[in-house]
Amino acid sequence: MLQRAKLIARVAQEAGLTAAQLNAKLEQPSMLRRTPAWVFLGPPGVGKGTYASRVADALGLAHISAGDLVREEIKQQTDLGQQVATIVNQGNLLPDQYVMQLLQNRLSEGARKGEEGVLLDGFPRTRNQAEALLTFADVQLALNLSLREEVLIAKCLARRKCRDCGKNYNLADIDLPASEGKPAIRMPPLLPPAACAAKLETRSDDNFSTVKRRIEVHKAEASPVEDIFRKAGVLSDFEITGGIPETFPRLLETLQSGSLTQDREQAA
Ligand SMILES: [Zn+2]
Repeated sequence: MLQRAKLIARVAQEAGLTAAQLNAKLEQPSMLRRTPAWVFLGPPGVGKGTYASRVADALGLAHISAGDLVREEIKQQTDLGQQVATIVNQGNLLPDQYVMQLLQNRLSEGARKGEEGVLLDGFPRTRNQAEALLTFADVQLALNLSLREEVLIAKCLARRKCRDCGKNYNLADIDLPASEGKPAIRMPPLLPPAACAAKLETRSDDNFSTVKRRIEVHKAEASPVEDIFRKAGVLSDFEITGGIPETFPRLLETLQSGSLTQDREQAA
């Protein structure tokens, strides 16, 4: 409870409200039931989007990515959408309060439609966003997906897209033995059928230095967010060591089993 009181105080200060005013807002009828939320975190190339959409389908959750939220609001041409469009079109990152306002609106709308819970894909991305989320959603688990860095790089460099049909493939054939306490990693390639094989393209920004930079940027950005969720007792680390067929069932098991309870106990 102390944790929540501190969060409220900080978020209230940022919103220019007293803690009592913010509490009153949070206790309005529409806010009484906080939407259960699962959060998927992880570096670019880890397969977050793929796993998030499969898990959301399997558990009956709404899959929400920040990019989709922004695009949808702009498309609807609301006041907020127009402000957002101006910022985005100038090539600027959307400030925290816009991102969280979009999400809060989306959750209220979902709650009215009877949505049971949401899965957030790739956000919150900043400390402030993570803290705000904890005040208005009931975060069940923040799953921190990881993959050994050499594998992450190899997979990013081996991504290919068919220029005819737009399907994505991955040519990396990863088979690393276990060593120095690290688990073995076996990830077979996702090879194209003959029709696509001659038409594969590499994304221009999938080169070594860009991929390495994306990973470094992510690390710097992710660690304060992970800290917030760890302190809240909802962070669960999940290392990917195989392809989708092995990983997906293990992921569902983690989400449904007592691993969260264990983490909560460890954090306490
Ligand atoms: Zn094709």
